[in-house]
Amino acid sequence: MKAEILSVGTEILLGDIVNTNAQYISRELANLGINVYYETVVGDNPERLKAAYNFALSRADIVITTGGLGPTKDDLTKEIAAEYFNKKLILDNKSLEEIIKFFKKINRELSENNKKQAYFPEGCIIMENHNGTAPGCIIEENNKIAVLLPGPPKEMIPMLNEGVIPYLKKFQEGTLISKVLRITGIGESSVDNIIGYIIDRQLNPTVAPYAKDNEVILRLTAKANDEETAYKLIEPVEKEIRDKLGDINVYGIENQTIEEVVAKLLIDNKLTISMAESCTGGLLSGQLINYPGISSVFIEGAVTYSNAAKMARLKVKEDTLNKFGAVSRQCAAEMAEGMAKAAGTNIGVSTTGIAGPDGGTVEKPVGLVYVGLYINGVIKTKKLNLAGNRQKVRDRAVASTLDWLRRELIEYLSR
Ligand code: ATP
Ligand code: MG
Repeated sequence: MKAEILSVGTEILLGDIVNTNAQYISRELANLGINVYYETVVGDNPERLKAAYNFALSRADIVITTGGLGPTKDDLTKEIAAEYFNKKLILDNKSLEEIIKFFKKINRELSENNKKQAYFPEGCIIMENHNGTAPGCIIEENNKIAVLLPGPPKEMIPMLNEGVIPYLKKFQEGTLISKVLRITGIGESSVDNIIGYIIDRQLNPTVAPYAKDNEVILRLTAKANDEETAYKLIEPVEKEIRDKLGDINVYGIENQTIEEVVAKLLIDNKLTISMAESCTGGLLSGQLINYPGISSVFIEGAVTYSNAAKMARLKVKEDTLNKFGAVSRQCAAEMAEGMAKAAGTNIGVSTTGIAGPDGGTVEKPVGLVYVGLYINGVIKTKKLNLAGNRQKVRDRAVASTLDWLRRELIEYLSR
């Protein structure tokens, strides 16, 4: 089954709002194993909407629209859908009652326009709107399905979950189960080089890669008569992927985050940690502290931005700063050790680098970051060369440092 999402609204075209509806619906359809071939945006213009609607239904089996169900003249989706399917718009008394009730509840006068929202193409399935006035509907005709949803996400999402997804599930044979693998340390194109042959097979399970900030995500989706069988189908392919990519590069599954993985390693092994940050300015500590429960191991984070602070707080030697500079392996090492000692923790982590846009030189370009790690007496450093603007360099430094910390912790704990 091929689907198309048609988002209706001039605001999207003007850049006033982000089309989060399309993203949300796409993800849900992917979970159902329904392929979305096109996402279209069209303004609230009758001719163009009609053209886009006809075009979408000519190439897709199911077209999901959002927006244009409101009470005003420029809300036209229902009218255009009715016209496409050659249906009359007829009053649905139950919807009208609900609309009247809704207006009573919010203490507002019902306008004549609002009654328009209770009219539906003959024979369609009507979906109640518990969070607003415009009900949605599903029209099924000649092997085509049109789903009409309201624009406001707080109305659209519940209607999709309660009305549309259960409806679409009946077209699904068997059960679809997805498992997400999260990968760091290998870029998208390398992942594709290594396991492209698995992705290309497109058997059961299918494997779909996508790149996010600082990670690659693989979604394995299996279809079977029941969940257990679906999981059994995923298992050997997951193993093959882990073997080929290297298990250590698969940092997590499903919705796990890198900070969750690192935090659990620390908490489970009762390793306390402190962080001294220069170029990342607290972002690193901030991200680790995202994880609730981190308080049992996270002792202290310091933003030691100036040389003076590095010397005073972390006991970085003046000599080190003079000889090698603040952005150096030596400084990162002294920062990590100094932090751990000052805070009395098992682990100390440091970052020092050039985030730009200024301050880069030939030897030390923008994006050069050193990270230091002290674990119970052993000191290691790592050099990063990161691309991007100031914000990106700092974000990437945080992501790389957390991932390096994860790898080093696993290595340390296996000793
Ligand atoms: P209303 O009854 O509020 O007029 P509607 O079904 O006619 O609802 P629109 O008028 O197209 O929908 O959009 C109403 C609001 O919903 C927009 O102002 C915007 O805030 C939000 N919205 C609409 N489309 C989207 C979208 N694709 N993604 C995110 N938000 C959206
Ligand atoms: Mg509207």
